[in-house]
Amino acid sequence: MVAIATLQTIWDCRWSRLGYRVWGVQDHLQPEKLWVCIRSGEREGVTEEVCEACPHWESLPEPYFFNPSSRST
Ligand code: SF4
Repeated sequence: MVAIATLQTIWDCRWSRLGYRVWGVQDHLQPEKLWVCIRSGEREGVTEEVCEACPHWESLPEPYFFNPSSRST
C-alpha cells in the first residue's frame, strides 16, 4: 500500500501573509506572528501545524504571464 501525502504548506495558501515584524525586536514582542491568515477578514496568527490540517487551505492562484506574441493586431 502506498500512502500519498498532500502538503498544505502555509506559504502556498492563498489566505496566508507574512506578519508585520519590527526589525531587532525579540520574537515574543513582535506585533504579529511570522505568518497570519486573512481568510476571516482579520489578521490572525497561524502556524505551519495549523495550516497543515486546515480544511480551508486553498492553493495560490496561477501567476499571470503576459505573452506579447499572443496579441492580436
Ligand atoms: S489557517 Fe487555513 S486558510 Fe488560513 S492560511 Fe492557514 S491553511 Fe490557509
